[in-house]
Amino acid sequence: MTPEGSRAAASTVSFTVHGIGVSAGIAIGHAHLFAGMGAEVQHYEIPAADVLREQRRYDRAVKEVRDELEHLAESVRHGPSAELAPFVNVHMLLLDDAAFKDAPRDIIREQRANAEWALRNQLDELLAQFADIEDPYLREREDDVRQVAERILGALAGTRRRIMKPVREDATILVARELSPADVILFREHPFAAFVTDLGGATSHTAIVARSMNIPAIVALHHARSLIHEDELLIVDGTQGVVIVNPDRHVLAEYRLKQNEARLERDKLKRLRSAAATTLDGTVVQLYANIELPSDIEAVKASGATGIGLFRSEFLFMNRRDLPDEDEQYEAYRDVLEGLKGMPVTIRTLDIGADKSFEGQEAHAPVNPALGLRAIRYCLAEPQVFNTQLRAILRASRHGKALILIPMLTTWTEITQAIAAVARAKEELRDEGVKFDEYVPVGGMIEVPAAAIALPMFIRKLDFLSIGTNDLIQYTLAIDRADDRVAHLYDPLHPAVLNLIAGVIRTAQQYEKPVAVCGEMAGDVELTRLLLGFGLRHFSMHPAHLLSVKQRVLVTSLPDIASVVARILKADEPEKMQALIEKLNA
Ligand code: PEP
Ligand code: MG
Repeated sequence: MTPEGSRAAASTVSFTVHGIGVSAGIAIGHAHLFAGMGAEVQHYEIPAADVLREQRRYDRAVKEVRDELEHLAESVRHGPSAELAPFVNVHMLLLDDAAFKDAPRDIIREQRANAEWALRNQLDELLAQFADIEDPYLREREDDVRQVAERILGALAGTRRRIMKPVREDATILVARELSPADVILFREHPFAAFVTDLGGATSHTAIVARSMNIPAIVALHHARSLIHEDELLIVDGTQGVVIVNPDRHVLAEYRLKQNEARLERDKLKRLRSAAATTLDGTVVQLYANIELPSDIEAVKASGATGIGLFRSEFLFMNRRDLPDEDEQYEAYRDVLEGLKGMPVTIRTLDIGADKSFEGQEAHAPVNPALGLRAIRYCLAEPQVFNTQLRAILRASRHGKALILIPMLTTWTEITQAIAAVARAKEELRDEGVKFDEYVPVGGMIEVPAAAIALPMFIRKLDFLSIGTNDLIQYTLAIDRADDRVAHLYDPLHPAVLNLIAGVIRTAQQYEKPVAVCGEMAGDVELTRLLLGFGLRHFSMHPAHLLSVKQRVLVTSLPDIASVVARILKADEPEKMQALIEKLNA
């Protein structure tokens, strides 16, 4: 029996807590509680003579946090986690804001209150302003405000944040009310095995970063921070979104086995890195990667991807107050194209709106952001922003094999205007004598049901298609993909969704246009055979999923799956559908 097993069996009650698994994998370790702003804050009165001293104590805490953030910003800037730099920058901007720099000092003076209490009051005031906001992106700004306050509180307590110091030598699991992406970066230097939080959604920055760092993580557990005690033994199943607290030795043994199997599986998968993705009957399949920022290239290379099928360029625009200019964008696209050494790089034009917005755009938060001025709609409404991006992509196209992908196409006018905008940007560059690839293909994302149904209207004008299943499901089933209250209704196997996807692939084949899937379905190994059976030969996914999908491709015979796939397309009852999917994957 392991030491953990004997401890668990001896003294404790076992229970489970359920949340949203945002980063897959299993971790077993001891809880380390992170006390944040949710903890009690003491209140005491400051004698008039000590007000200045208390204000200085507050100033010192703010300065300490600033030094800590500057150090973090420097350490992430050039490292493997460069995508965190913008998040750290947001915290620095907030720290410089009068709301944190001055307001608590005023409260100390006016109420003769201690600094912690003044900060707590100021935070409550700020959070009250967020109370009526529904926009998920804006709500994540609320998280940033809270996290900055937590940092200052930590500095006031005179302790470096305990998050920096795992308490044990063996695996430690961080249990928090919430964590910032800047906190998650510390996992690199301090070997936390996983983290679980009470707050946060699947689209939060923290979730995105956890996924990119391959750490099991669960959010939205609601009561974990109050139910779990320091040092208790935990199993975190990031795939199922479950935390098992004080597991008995049988459960522990079962999960250790699963963990070992997963480790062996990962090592085995690495050997497939350079193998061609070919089915048993000899059909070649292209497996591409999705990226958010140029720093993701290393993960792309490690995955053995043969190209980038989706560069979500909007991440270059987020968490900052200005827009990246043409040169900055050009450099980012060029770095990716050069890094991929001639392999295709599909750069999606700005898909801002819905759950992704610029700093400042929040002021106009619409009632239904996913149905609002998003993606190509935004770009056509802001032709200067669109033109700058197209010029940057075209200029970078000399450095590799670039493709332009237009998101959220819905109408004839949009496609015509988007293509005209590309032609205009080319013309400008020609006039200026700037070289670019004249034959950069222009493709369209099929992610609105209207585009999928009326595909012939679009297809003639496009060089290739990419099916965005994340939005296609959202818009087909009328389910907000960022709202965890309706997450259980989000169903890739809904017959309407499957028939739309199969129909798009069929039409693309008829018109001899390349078609890919770049939504999350492409990286779900349980759906690989289904998509292959629909005729898909081109998948684009998060690099972490690529080798498992490749393995499935390698053991699939297309003639053998054809009849089950045909039956799945006709299935109209969930049980029947599930049974057929199981048969397909057997
Ligand atoms: C999609 O909608 O499937 C997609 C790939 O785009 P995003 O997730 O960035 O909206
Ligand atoms: Mg989309």
